[in-house]
Amino acid sequence: MNPDNPVIREAIQKGLSPNVLFIDIENSWCKGWFWRGGKQIISGDQIERMARVICLCYVWNNDKKGHTLYWDSKGNDKKLIQDFVKLAEKADLIIGHNGERHDVNILRARMLVHKIDPVPIDVIDDTLKLVYRKFNFPNNSLNYLCQELKIGTKAKPPNGLECWEILDREPGNEKALKSMAKYCMHDVIGLLRPLWKRLVPHTGSGINVNTFRYLDGVRVAICPIPLCGGTLWFHSNRHTKAGAYKRYRCKKCGHLACDRKNLIKRPTDLPRL
Ligand SMILES: [Zn+2]
Repeated sequence: MNPDNPVIREAIQKGLSPNVLFIDIENSWCKGWFWRGGKQIISGDQIERMARVICLCYVWNNDKKGHTLYWDSKGNDKKLIQDFVKLAEKADLIIGHNGERHDVNILRARMLVHKIDPVPIDVIDDTLKLVYRKFNFPNNSLNYLCQELKIGTKAKPPNGLECWEILDREPGNEKALKSMAKYCMHDVIGLLRPLWKRLVPHTGSGINVNTFRYLDGVRVAICPIPLCGGTLWFHSNRHTKAGAYKRYRCKKCGHLACDRKNLIKRPTDLPRL
């Protein structure tokens, strides 16, 4: 596809794109009773209090500025969860590292506790899952991956674990809340978002940008990767048992995307393997 074509240029500039929400949460400790340290099974009746969400840091698409939701001065996260629901309703794609099992499922558990109606969280690009699926690194932590890929390093937890201790005693302590949010925000803007951008041309995303554009009447395909907006250039033909399809490469991020139209006009004429 030719980016000099005015129709294509206009479509690209129009930038019809999904709402992409990058998130990370910090939660409080669970509190409970146990007889000794070390490996053991902690049963339900030993748990006095489940973890609550202290803060949730998020940023939309390519926005420079992120935002933070906090629990209230008594350590109640109901308002935070209600505010998250509003974000989730607006988001077409949520991105987090271990975001599916950790962040989103903890948030869902808190929704259930607070009797909040279900929210449509349809697509999550979990960077941990993407890494597991397509690569083999010796470690898959956000910190390790970002160091190896020269993206950055995780900030040190605020005063070791002191912040969590302070907030356990004094949930409204502003200084502790601010330093925890700073630590969390660095994970979102400094590490998670650039990591996802590095991974996703290789792994693909859970959504295809073109579904938004076509719905809005712009029928010119661009790179399907959210937030890329690159143009597609013919790369090669992809052959399968049942047909042949045009394959394109995105000029901007390198992603390889295939047409769905079979170049074999009558695939039923093909002899079966
Ligand atoms: Zn691209």
